[in-house]
Formats: sequence, C-alpha cells, structure tokens
Amino acid sequence: MAAISLRNVVKRYGKAKQELQVIHGIDAEVSDREFIVIVGPSGCGKSTLLRMVAGLEEISGGEIAIGDRVVNDLEPAERDIAMVFQNYALYPHMSVFDNMAYGLKIRKMPPAEIRTRVDKAAAILELGHLLDRKPRQLSGGQRQRVAMGRAIVRQPQVFLFDEPLSNLDAKLRAQTRLEIQKLHRELGITSLFVTHDQVEAMTLAQRMIVMNAGRMEQFGTPEQVYQQPASTFVASFIGSPP
Ligand code: ADP
Ligand code: MG
Repeated sequence: MAAISLRNVVKRYGKAKQELQVIHGIDAEVSDREFIVIVGPSGCGKSTLLRMVAGLEEISGGEIAIGDRVVNDLEPAERDIAMVFQNYALYPHMSVFDNMAYGLKIRKMPPAEIRTRVDKAAAILELGHLLDRKPRQLSGGQRQRVAMGRAIVRQPQVFLFDEPLSNLDAKLRAQTRLEIQKLHRELGITSLFVTHDQVEAMTLAQRMIVMNAGRMEQFGTPEQVYQQPASTFVASFIGSPP
C-alpha cells in the first residue's frame, strides 16, 4: 500500500470565467518511508499541491489518500501530517520545551507522555540542554531545530516541508539540510519536500517529482532525472543554475 497516493489531482482557483487551473491531473504513488522532493520553478504549483495534501487548500478534482484513507474531505488536524514552513514562528514568551509541547497540550495529551515525546525529539535534535531557554536566547540554527521538533513530537505519518531552507544563509542551509537527512534516517517518516532549488532537490531526494506549469514532467530518482530527462523542460531546468 502506498503511503501517499495522488490520483488525477486537479486544482482550480476562482470561479466560472475567472477560473484559473493551476494543477492539471497529477498522479503519483509515494512508498512508506520515502523522501520525495517536489521541484520546479516559482509559480508551477508546488505549494498548492502540498497544501492540498495538508488539507489547507480544497482539491478541485481527483483524490488524495494518506495510507488507506482518502483524505479529500478531512480537516488538516484529522490527516496525521505535520508541516514545516519557510517562515516558522516560535512563541517568544515560551521556553523551548513549551514551544515543542504546545501542540500536544492543546490535544489534551497526558503530561507524562508529552515529557517523553519532547525529550525524545530534543535528543534527536540535540536540544536537550536548551529546553529551558527562550527563543531569543537561541541561534538561528537552534530555532530552526525547535521548529522541526514541534513537528516531530506529533509523530505524524507524513512530513510536509514547504521550502524550509530558503530564508537561511548558505551555511545554515547546508547544516539544516544535513539535519533533515539525519531526521529522515532516524525516524523514517514519509516526507514530501518542496523546493525550487535543483541542487537541493538532487541532494535530498530519494525520488523527485519535477513540475512545470501545474503538470508533472517526471517522477524518478535523481539519477534517472539527470541521466534520462523525460522532456526538454526537465533537461534545461535540471541543468540550469537555481
Ligand atoms: P509555487 O509554490 O510552485 O511557487 P504556487 O502553488 O504558490 O506555486 O502557485 C501556483 C499558481 O497558482 C500560481 O500561478 C499562483 O499565482 C496561483 N495561486 C496560488 N494561490 C492562489 C490563490 N489563493 N488564488 C489564486 N491563484 C493562486
Ligand atoms: Mg511555493
């Protein structure tokens, strides 16, 4: 069984004459524990596709399934996913521990279970010694790790990343990329990672979906995409600088 299935997924914005179709029938099956990168130029529909998986955007046609559940009509909170955005906002007045615990507290999880989950996430992210600090007392990299910790403690079936590295400087971007790879090795959570950066896509992906103008141009391993581009678009996009 696929971990995520996209079946003829369509998205239209607006109504009647103003209608704009931005996703044109995407089909893809993602296996359990796979790390998939969705890559393509700005405006090609990456965020829209991810937001439909998350339930933040309604689907206009087709079907999205997570595990064996069709999720088209489920609220984001019912989908067993966690999303990491480009602009992560930590709660400035809360400690690192409380920032990570907050989403569990509002779900009324018992405090002992919350403690266990936060401690485990903090160990993986090397935040154990920082749990009492406030966000302003952290470096940029540490803040980024707290933002990921908030997603991990939920123990979701699926991680969704929307360009989480694009606001970081080059050094922090490289560090965080390694962090994300380590997380995936240790937790093995099925992930969809969106980026417009070809190099980032090629280094992170187990398989990648190359998108152009709302269509899937190719779905394959970085080697396949690089060595056997399915279209002239793929060949020129993968070969050009970000
Ligand atoms: P990407 O993430 O690849 O940069 P998006 O998914 O954000 O692309 O956008 C895809 C297309 O959909 C773009 O043409 C964008 O202008 C359009 N779009 C995105 N959100 C909306 C919206 N809420 N209403 C109308 N058009 C939108
Ligand atoms: Mg986007």
